[in-house]
Amino acid sequence: MKALFRVLMLAASMVVCAQEYEPVPMNPDPMALDAVVTEGVDDSAYLPVADDEYAEEVKPDEVLDVPRDQTRVAVLGYHNFSQTAPVTRMLMRTSEFREQMEYIRRAGLTVISMQEFLEWRLGNRTLPARCILITLDDGWKSVYTDAYPILKEYGYPFTLFLYTKFLSGRGDSLTPDQVKEMQANGATVGSHSVSHLYPRSWKKCEKEGPDAYAALVDAELGESQKKLSELFGSVNTYCYPGGYHTAGMQERMPGYGYVAAFTVVPGKVTASEVPLQIPRYMIFGNDSSVFRSAVDFRVAQLGTVVSTGASPGTLPASTPPPPFAVSPQPHETVAPDFPAITAYMSGVAGVDFSTVQMKVSGFGRVPATVDKATRAVQWVLPCRIYMPNLSVHVTWKNTDGTSHKAEWSFSIDPNAPIKTVNSTP
Ligand SMILES: [Zn+2]
Repeated sequence: MKALFRVLMLAASMVVCAQEYEPVPMNPDPMALDAVVTEGVDDSAYLPVADDEYAEEVKPDEVLDVPRDQTRVAVLGYHNFSQTAPVTRMLMRTSEFREQMEYIRRAGLTVISMQEFLEWRLGNRTLPARCILITLDDGWKSVYTDAYPILKEYGYPFTLFLYTKFLSGRGDSLTPDQVKEMQANGATVGSHSVSHLYPRSWKKCEKEGPDAYAALVDAELGESQKKLSELFGSVNTYCYPGGYHTAGMQERMPGYGYVAAFTVVPGKVTASEVPLQIPRYMIFGNDSSVFRSAVDFRVAQLGTVVSTGASPGTLPASTPPPPFAVSPQPHETVAPDFPAITAYMSGVAGVDFSTVQMKVSGFGRVPATVDKATRAVQWVLPCRIYMPNLSVHVTWKNTDGTSHKAEWSFSIDPNAPIKTVNSTP
């Protein structure tokens, strides 16, 4: 389990680099996009799961529905598969996918369809306490050749989030006929826009004024709904490319018929989640830690306020501030490229600095370092962060053996200007 934990820490740091989740539109070459990520990855990340790491096997007929507000759903987001190509964040070993599906079965988690998910959200049905919603983004051909046979074998429903420009059947993409065959065997089709634009394109358009922006939203979110509905029947869910979403998109989405939209912010979905910002775990091909976190329903995750429906990463307003200076400060709003999270603990008496640990929502425990001279405990961010909120949890022991903790949360404005020079304190 220790090795597993190390692996989890190693690549958990990639969890929320939302911009890097997705392949570049119309350039579906995962090798080119993720070559760097593959290097140096611990092989154990995709070794088979040992038997003793499974939850005790649960029989499906022993899993009963619970009151609606007691259900939590982990939405899993996958991309591309291969049994031979080097794994990357975007490309998973097919056998690893099978192992994950087997884990879900043995753990007694209930895989639900998009329709069941939406009915539960609307208050029209109940579900078991621990549910899984499987989604696959973009429309890679390997979804049909590699993942689909496994999903069919397990009887798991799934959702395909397709962007229409990629739906050509050329090269690595699915054909409409393959999608239709999967629809007849458990697949729901959702929209992933027309051309899979990145934030820079949206921001550039925003400068051209609200009319231009609305036109682009219509062209990307509205037209894809129309096209996909023509091909596959009514489409009413959306998945933000790269997880990037704005109020300007959301205000127009009901007009296209979307009732739910999915982000790349990890967290369990509750009945009271904001419908157009539903959390989702992006499952990487070269690191199983996010999957493990997704299927772990034992405790509410740090920073995920299950009962109130607050967005993941937000601590309750009643949380006392840390007894030392921190950066970013509690309730501060920062740009996505803020350089580091720092706890200035020099003024705290009796700290045994060898025991200090930092956890960050969406990342788990992070490799924070202690500066010997200043006693600042700091984690330098590995990437830009596009999650709306982060909560930080610092624990330590004093030399007298007593345990202590401090927590705070802050917000990130995805539209704030990105600085080019780091300003690490
Ligand atoms: Zn995508």
